[in-house]
Amino acid sequence: MNLLIDDFISTTSGKVSLKTLLTSDTDYQLQYAFDEIQLAMLQLLGSLSTVVLKPTLDELKGYLKNGLTAEQYDLALSKIDLQWFDEGCFMRSAMPNKGKTHNAIISKLISGIESSGTTNASGLFSETVYVGVVCPDCTHVLNYNLHMNIKGDCFGASGATGIRGGGTISTLIAGKDVTTTILANTVAVDFFNNAREIKKPNNKLMWQEPMQGDIYYAHQIGLERGLFALAYHIDFPVLDESCLCDVCGHHSNQSIKDFLRLKYTGSYGSTKKGRDGNAQWWPHPYTPVTQKEEGTFPVCARDQHWHSWQNFSSYVISQGTDKSSSTPALIVSQYQKIAMGKVNLLIGGNIADQASITGRVYDLYAMPEHWDSNLERVTQVIDTGLDVKDKLVQALNKMFGAGYDKNFISGIKNTAVQQYISNAQKIVQELLLDVDRKDARVLRKEALGILKAEARNIYQALIRKYHADLPLFKALVKGEKVLRTLELEK
Ligand SMILES: [Zn+2]
Repeated sequence: MNLLIDDFISTTSGKVSLKTLLTSDTDYQLQYAFDEIQLAMLQLLGSLSTVVLKPTLDELKGYLKNGLTAEQYDLALSKIDLQWFDEGCFMRSAMPNKGKTHNAIISKLISGIESSGTTNASGLFSETVYVGVVCPDCTHVLNYNLHMNIKGDCFGASGATGIRGGGTISTLIAGKDVTTTILANTVAVDFFNNAREIKKPNNKLMWQEPMQGDIYYAHQIGLERGLFALAYHIDFPVLDESCLCDVCGHHSNQSIKDFLRLKYTGSYGSTKKGRDGNAQWWPHPYTPVTQKEEGTFPVCARDQHWHSWQNFSSYVISQGTDKSSSTPALIVSQYQKIAMGKVNLLIGGNIADQASITGRVYDLYAMPEHWDSNLERVTQVIDTGLDVKDKLVQALNKMFGAGYDKNFISGIKNTAVQQYISNAQKIVQELLLDVDRKDARVLRKEALGILKAEARNIYQALIRKYHADLPLFKALVKGEKVLRTLELEK
């Protein structure tokens, strides 16, 4: 099987090739049982398409407008040394003789659940018990997910931090179908290289020409090399047993139940050691970043209660504002250069909380063209959501005065706040759809109205629930006044 030629991509109409996905008129739907693998697959396909097409910004604009023909794909493919994309070779560097290899069950590549036994290694969106066996085709997306998305800490001391850093958020462009999604996440070579000001980067794949030394300098890593940057030697022992793959749902004559890994010894600029050694940050096109005094860092989901809308303003639309030093992923700024109309974003990532992964985010946002001109309006909607949340928290805090056990009160409070955050996510997403059509004042008023009503509903439900509990009821009524101040201020 070769990843640039053969049918390895799982869709609801069976397995298809990258060429079919990019050049056919059929509206294929990817079929992967877990949202994180679906997202990793989109990252992988956008990166593979970059390697095949190597488009300029103008060419990419043409493909997005007119589509890509089978002839164009074949012509591009004829210039590529295909052997490096064979299944036994792709993203797999040979294990060295020295060093202890680590074995783990295959489900660890889906959830990223850590190998060690700390208490917060739980609470996944995906149930790992449902993954025991996968087909050979799916090992590639799992391997990719390990290298690009799973935090090294999840594997304890034997874990490695890849080129994107640990627990990094990914932003991708969502097209109207899978074909446009992959094309929109294809990186324009000239755009990427201009952003880097590097004259002659090394574009050899890392399993073709392995990394050397203790520090992996970003300026030595070209686009193709970086898109598939390795952090582990890896091996997937194949069993001659047939299976129904737990990841793609397709039947296979061979099965994989575990994998072997051995981490690389050098450090990328995504780690402290790499930063100290002046490795510099490699600008992965799907990674939004924050600039700090100590260096460049990927935007991460901070804890299990993180919802992407709360950070939305800072990492996607910070362009042009002085408030934040975050920059959107390069793929987003690229798309702004070539596309017309609404921009839909896919946002996903592991929640980075200590050494564990307690959740996954996977959201879709629609953003209008020319965000910059609407920056203030977008920020206002988000800020309104956060203001209302603050007031809700203040109101709920009055319950601590009721004289009950602190943990009991915290439990009630957290449940209410989480409920607001999740519901607000839907509301904020819907409001942003109108951002280019409505006046800023009208939009803010509307946002405030809807979000406040949401907070009030949640609060009223609590008052009803505890109406017979006098101390708690009294405290909640006191808090209600805080919620009302929102009206007076705005
Ligand atoms: Zn499979």
